[in-house]
Amino acid sequence: MRRLLSGVKPTGPIHLGNYIGALRNWLQFQLDYENFFFVADLHALTVRQDPKVLAERIREIARMFLAVGIDPQKSVIFVQSDVPEHSELTWLLNCVTRMGELERMTQFKDKAREGRERAGVGLFDYPVLMAADVLLYQTDVVPVGEDQKQHMELTRDLAIRFNRDYGETFRVPEPFIPEVGARLMSLSNASKKMSKSDDDPQGCIELLDAPDAITRKFKRAVTDSGTEIRFDPSRPAITNLLVIYQLLTNQTREEIETHFSTRGYAQLKNELAERMIEFLKPVQERFNSITDAELDTVLDEGCARARVVASQTLGEARRRLGVERKAMRSMSQ
Ligand code: ATP
Ligand code: MG
Repeated sequence: MRRLLSGVKPTGPIHLGNYIGALRNWLQFQLDYENFFFVADLHALTVRQDPKVLAERIREIARMFLAVGIDPQKSVIFVQSDVPEHSELTWLLNCVTRMGELERMTQFKDKAREGRERAGVGLFDYPVLMAADVLLYQTDVVPVGEDQKQHMELTRDLAIRFNRDYGETFRVPEPFIPEVGARLMSLSNASKKMSKSDDDPQGCIELLDAPDAITRKFKRAVTDSGTEIRFDPSRPAITNLLVIYQLLTNQTREEIETHFSTRGYAQLKNELAERMIEFLKPVQERFNSITDAELDTVLDEGCARARVVASQTLGEARRRLGVERKAMRSMSQ
């Protein structure tokens, strides 16, 4: 089976965009791939975090993987920082990465808002950590949003260069961009994507939101001018709401437009809230039923399984580079 890797950063409460853009697809991937799913906590550190909050969020995200139905028997579920090979391979790859390659990354340019001088080195180096994540597991496929395409190109370039200069070590991965739901927009501003690190929580449906919060957020959601309820790219706010409706009901666009041809925004928002609450209820129940001990067992086992693969790849990379003393000695004997 082909191998797939994907992660979520513990930078904020997990939300509907993460579900639609990532977790929902993961459920499908469980049928076709050998999967490695992880909480990307080392990536979260590229932006300042409160340590206590971060520690809780790491567990919250992992618990949510299980609550939405990711099966630890089928998939390897782990926390990135539990597997030290990620950090170590990052260093080795840093030494084959060029400054210019990282300087070209548009996400660094966007995120380093306070300017280059004050931006963290970790933020600059983020794409190399991502390359290490992917290459450690000899990954075939990495599902990513449009925003990560450039980072995946770098990952491929680094793998190809390392293999050429030091010998065949890494599988060269392919990006995979899902067609639908690749980008849910904020409910309060349809030109911004729904995101964990958004300062305005009203735009974001959190998977752990209580029913009244969900009702309130949909009620306050922005809509476009006009009254018609149709999928229409020139009316991004209403289209975003309809996309959510479509994902919750599995109806076709025609069915949805027909249903709402005689109804108004208020009804759409009511129905959205009702469907959303209904959808989240069992997820939240499962989330609350998973004990700390159960979660730790899953993550300990996931870490052990991940390290079997990761340590093998890292060992090979070290041997190739000449920094594996014990292996070298046995080779010279
Ligand atoms: P941050 O704001 O810290 O970057 P985020 O909300 O963008 O957080 P990530 O951890 O970066 O979340 O992304 C986790 C997964 O969720 C990725 O696969 C990403 O493509 C997907 N994702 C994030 N936001 C959305 C969204 N609005 N619509 C669809 N998919 C999304
Ligand atoms: Mg993101």
